[in-house]
Amino acid sequence: MTTADFAGRTALVTGGASGIGRATAELLAARGARVTVLDLDPSGVDGPLHARRADVTDDASIRTAVAAAAEEMGGVDILVNNAGIGAQGTVEDNDDAQWQRVLDVNVLGIVRTSRAALPYLRASTGGAIVNTCSIAATAGLPQRALYSASKGAVLSLTLAMAADHVREGVRVNCVNPGTVDTPWIGRLLDAAPDPAAERAALAARQPTGRLVTADEVATAICYLASSAAGATTGTALAVDGGMQGLRLRPA
Ligand code: NAD
Repeated sequence: MTTADFAGRTALVTGGASGIGRATAELLAARGARVTVLDLDPSGVDGPLHARRADVTDDASIRTAVAAAAEEMGGVDILVNNAGIGAQGTVEDNDDAQWQRVLDVNVLGIVRTSRAALPYLRASTGGAIVNTCSIAATAGLPQRALYSASKGAVLSLTLAMAADHVREGVRVNCVNPGTVDTPWIGRLLDAAPDPAAERAALAARQPTGRLVTADEVATAICYLASSAAGATTGTALAVDGGMQGLRLRPA
């Protein structure tokens, strides 16, 4: 059963047009929140969701979109900093421009959006920020130097922001998803010679034997954004099918 526990609340979700962000925006709305999606391409966003085109790498774009959304919704109680892009390879594989691009979206994107939204979150009763981080922040994954470094920064930023804003009544947490079945993973699988076999192999590598769903991550984000998590700030909630915490014996 879906409860209306976000009735009267207002939320912004960056990268909310696809995958984890879309599932989160839809769940917040289903639970009664007014929700605005901020995305590079919000053209497919419909239903009860508001949507605005915004680029988290462009400070003016984000400031304008956050202010307009706050005006339209009557404030911002919840900010989900979810927009992110991937990168594969070792430190030798990515050049400076690639590093700057991924850090610009994944890290500075959170900085810019939070800076624009904090005045509204502070004015809210029970303001909450939830950042979409990744198990890559702490796992030591091969071929993910740049992506892991960006998510390591997201984790540190989450903790530092939680400390800075706790006395202002704004909680800051993050989720650490494992391998989530979103269009992003779909694009990676489609690039393999046999996508179906690659998908099955990927699922088999998960402790649970399956990928995490976007709805499962959305549920965790909604928990951290909700008043039920009122005593929780500066934490990372793993939603990874046991990938990081479990040490299973080889079958
Ligand atoms: P996705 O590609 O399905 O969706 C990402 C959305 O972000 C897209 O709608 C895209 O348009 C938007 N976006 C990208 N750059 C943007 C920008 N500059 N400004 C505004 N919007 C922008 O991806 P997803 O799998 O749902 O991933 C969402 C988040 O979850 C990312 O931060 C990602 O790092 C994280 N994550 C994903 C997985 C996974 O396995 N899919 C695992 C761990 C963490």
